Amino acid sequence: MPTPYAYFKKQFVPLAEAKIGVMTHAFNYGTGCFEGIRGNWNEQDERVYLFRLRDHFLRLGRSCRILKIDLPYSPEELCDIATKLVGMCGYTEDVYLRPIAYKSSEVVGVRMHNLEDDLVMYVTPFGPYLDLEKGIRCMTSSWRRVDELSIPARAKVTGIYVNSALAKTEAQENGFDEAVMLASDGHVSEGSGENIFIVEDGTLITPSHSDNILVGITRDTVIRLAREELGIETVERPIARAELYTADECFMTGTAAHVTAVVDVDRRPVGNGKTGAITAHLQKLYLDVICCKNNKYADWCTPA
Ligand code: PMP
Repeated sequence: MPTPYAYFKKQFVPLAEAKIGVMTHAFNYGTGCFEGIRGNWNEQDERVYLFRLRDHFLRLGRSCRILKIDLPYSPEELCDIATKLVGMCGYTEDVYLRPIAYKSSEVVGVRMHNLEDDLVMYVTPFGPYLDLEKGIRCMTSSWRRVDELSIPARAKVTGIYVNSALAKTEAQENGFDEAVMLASDGHVSEGSGENIFIVEDGTLITPSHSDNILVGITRDTVIRLAREELGIETVERPIARAELYTADECFMTGTAAHVTAVVDVDRRPVGNGKTGAITAHLQKLYLDVICCKNNKYADWCTPA
């Protein structure tokens, strides 16, 4: 029987015992950095593979530098803790690993400095997040993606997710599956928890690092798979909202979302309103790679 454990205050404990106090700084002010990492169950090998684990911890390290969070672990030590934790839990299905490095002082006062930091990691079963088969219908959000000059979007900061949550709820309450957020200059930025790509004349186009995106690991994976497996290059440039309406294909990428087709934006079908050919090809490649079913990319998969 799988048992949920957490890594909390430098120890492995049952998940139910990993509790923080109500005065914790990160709980009050959103001063934490986190990652979402998938562990993908491989039936044949009967094990969970963690996807691009080290890359997630490298990004966590960069987020922590922006928030002045002291993360006293090397990426390798974090990988060891993660694999041990996932192994201990014993899940035989897809899981989600959530490390959070956070301001742990129980003190009132908004700031980043002179506070204690801590790290927690937990694991939870996690199936599909969006409809991989049918694709999703999106709306352009009335909420703008948080601007670099307000909170750097490239840092995966817990507090930033209020921005994502506002957009996601607006989209779902209006009958859509997901939101497309524009940057404050009006260009397309990303989804509430996904990066976005369009396909035009056989080329991939995605917003660049300077369009207030979280620089996604799935985004990078797809850029590399497109280049190496399909011979398709990706152009990183600003995308206008209306380009979403005229694109041949559109899809979103993310650890939770995998590669999901966007089949409709603002009640306009994208292409023929079905998952496009390039999207479908990338989705299939990606789903094999993350379960360690493609030897060429086995380095990206860490067995738990
Ligand atoms: N943008 C946002 C806002 C996200 O929360 C995520 C999910 N981490 C992504 C993009 C995709 O990033 P990744 O592919 O690394 O999961």
